[in-house]
Amino acid sequence: MNIKITKAETLKAKPADEENLGFGKYYTDHMFMMDWSVDEGWHNAQIIPYGPIPMDPASMVLHYAQETFEGLKAYRNGDDILIFRPEMNALRMQKSNERLCMAEVPEEIFVEAVEELVRYEKDWIPTSEGTSLYIRPFCFATEAAVGVHPATSYKFMVILSPVGQYYPEGVNPVKIFVEDEYVRAVVGGTGFAKCGGNYAASIIGQVKAQDAGYTQVLWLDGVHRKYVEEVGTMNVMFVVDGEILTPPLEGSVLPGITRDSCIRILRDWGYTVKETHIDINDLMEWTKTGKLQEAFGTGTAAVISPIGELNYKGNEQIINNFKTGPITHKLYETLTGIQWGNLEDPYGWVRKI
Ligand SMILES: *Cc1c(COP(=O)(O)O)cnc(C)c1O
Repeated sequence: MNIKITKAETLKAKPADEENLGFGKYYTDHMFMMDWSVDEGWHNAQIIPYGPIPMDPASMVLHYAQETFEGLKAYRNGDDILIFRPEMNALRMQKSNERLCMAEVPEEIFVEAVEELVRYEKDWIPTSEGTSLYIRPFCFATEAAVGVHPATSYKFMVILSPVGQYYPEGVNPVKIFVEDEYVRAVVGGTGFAKCGGNYAASIIGQVKAQDAGYTQVLWLDGVHRKYVEEVGTMNVMFVVDGEILTPPLEGSVLPGITRDSCIRILRDWGYTVKETHIDINDLMEWTKTGKLQEAFGTGTAAVISPIGELNYKGNEQIINNFKTGPITHKLYETLTGIQWGNLEDPYGWVRKI
């Protein structure tokens, strides 16, 4: 791919304090942008100064939400820049775009765009423990039309943000509110696609949970309103009697790359991992009796996030004395160790760029 580069005239000052990067507060000097049209396919690949983009008010994304995105991270270890399983993000974006009838971004274009931009902005990759460069590829409909149909033009973009811990709590247990009024997704809908529309529908649950003093929301399935699906914007796993249970990928759950990586590592460690429906009533009962030993969310942003408390219909249950359990802790150390290049990577997941 031939990428035209326009360098920013002035470069921004990099955040001096890596301890307080937050998540998504800062953006780097440049961004990647590429266009798709029916006639030309993907063309016009550019790295340009980060900034606003002109858009027609009738751009279809603003009306019918044809938008998909991805999230992955780059790490710096000495002179090495590392990224984690980018081809998985590329494939997932293809599935998301297919579901939303959007032009698909070929894997080579996706990975090259990410790698070229990260390389170009490598001085922005923070190095303190727990920090990384968050990579946000996204795709959206630009055709100016208010009739409903698959758009005939799209943009694919990548922006970068140096980030710290996702939760100010760090790798400490969080309190979770089980949502029984709103649902995030249903089978047959777009739950498996990483698209902005899913988030628009779920923010209300997050607000409700936070207003009640909880960090995140645990979603139940939209039909029976009793099977656990996801926790906030993460997949979820439970250690029950020494086995690991996680909801299956049947269309309403997002196929997380962290989820996939955890399942692989846990099975290599000899654990039984069951992808199975988990009834919230059983879960609350197991929490009371201690059969539920650990619970945690998995996702690129927070990597592994232990769950210390569940509130379902006013019934509050503490998990593992509100402490990070041993499996949760070991998974976090192992996965971040591999991602950072500090531990051997037996899976070939880490790509040096
Ligand atoms: C992105 C995302 C996840 C986690 O996926 P990873 O690939 O592990 O980052 C889980 N649930 C939802 C709803 C997501 O959008």
